[in-house]
Amino acid sequence: MHTISDAPAPPSPAATLYIHIPFCRSKCAYCDFFSAPARGGDNGLYERYTDALLAEWRMRKNELPTLPSTIYLGGGTPSLLPMPVLKRLMDALLAEIPRHTLMEATIEANPEDVTPRWLEMIHEVGFNRVSIGIQSFDSSELAAVERQHSPIDSIRALTALAENGWNHSADLIYGLPGQTLELWRRNIERLLAFRPPHLSAYLLSYEPGTRLYARMAAGKVAETDEDTAQQMYDYLCRRTAEEGYLHYEISNFALPGRHAIHNSAYWNLTPYLGLGCSAHSLDKDSVRRYNPLSVKEYIHTLLSAPARIAARVDPETPSNRFNDLVITALRTSAGLRKDAIPDTFRTEFQVNLRPLLASGAVTDLGDSYAIPASRWLTADSILRDLIVT
Ligand code: SF4
Repeated sequence: MHTISDAPAPPSPAATLYIHIPFCRSKCAYCDFFSAPARGGDNGLYERYTDALLAEWRMRKNELPTLPSTIYLGGGTPSLLPMPVLKRLMDALLAEIPRHTLMEATIEANPEDVTPRWLEMIHEVGFNRVSIGIQSFDSSELAAVERQHSPIDSIRALTALAENGWNHSADLIYGLPGQTLELWRRNIERLLAFRPPHLSAYLLSYEPGTRLYARMAAGKVAETDEDTAQQMYDYLCRRTAEEGYLHYEISNFALPGRHAIHNSAYWNLTPYLGLGCSAHSLDKDSVRRYNPLSVKEYIHTLLSAPARIAARVDPETPSNRFNDLVITALRTSAGLRKDAIPDTFRTEFQVNLRPLLASGAVTDLGDSYAIPASRWLTADSILRDLIVT
């Protein structure tokens, strides 16, 4: 049995590791993440991809200032990997990263993969947290975006996670085609009945290049209007607060002490190493690197003649780095710490900030500035006004 401690909000790691598993059984209609077809469980492909991941780890681990304190296996659908492949990957990493230094090791999973036996096995290979993509408990809403799992799969998976005391996060999407405010309320209530330690909720976004976007362009579906989206968000904020969740970032809610440690580290620009195709990284010298998209090119480059894999390298300018910090920090309840504002940008930032403080769009919390949570959904226009040049 895996238990969760009742500790308060966890400390921040000094470095984190992200691993991208690009394979999916099918492509969801709204998805613009990089993913490749799972090809009916081609173990040879998964083995070669794992070889490439480990070659990249050996080559690039020194870009981090220290060994990572969190591992996050995202995708794609990492839960479709065969257990021997997952074990080989984690064994190799944990041979170098002492388990007792790992604050969090998360694997993303689709509901149909999460069974009591699977949970037992991933615990044995070294994971201590699961992030599960529920998205909706309504079969018509799931079908509208071509998700492959059923509401029953989700209920079984959430039951298994709860009964086995797993630290986990559950994702929902609001503004799905055909979803009314009442249907969204039912989704939230069904999820809250399981009392997951952490939940994330995202407004559906219509991204160019997706099938959903093409349907919208053809007039077959329509985006949820702003008022309804705001009402959905308000209901989400109210009900999670009533149930004791802390709303600590625009899309993230945690029971006390259950913040997502890995994801929170992105928001304060902690160095991270991203392994795998399409992964990106931020090294200890504030250089951002972007890996190539193609699985074939990624495997070939790493396994034939290991060389620098990055498809693009962007040294961050001081203004880019500060703007990144403003954009991420002001979407969190902690806000932007005043002592994190560099002297170089202090005057320009204060000029930009003054009207926003006067209108209440930004509040002064003493040691930090924050946007009230009720305005996070429309924070982009506020953030645009704060960008320094
Ligand atoms: S399972 Fe996730 S990553 Fe894969 S296609 Fe669907 S939304 Fe995209």
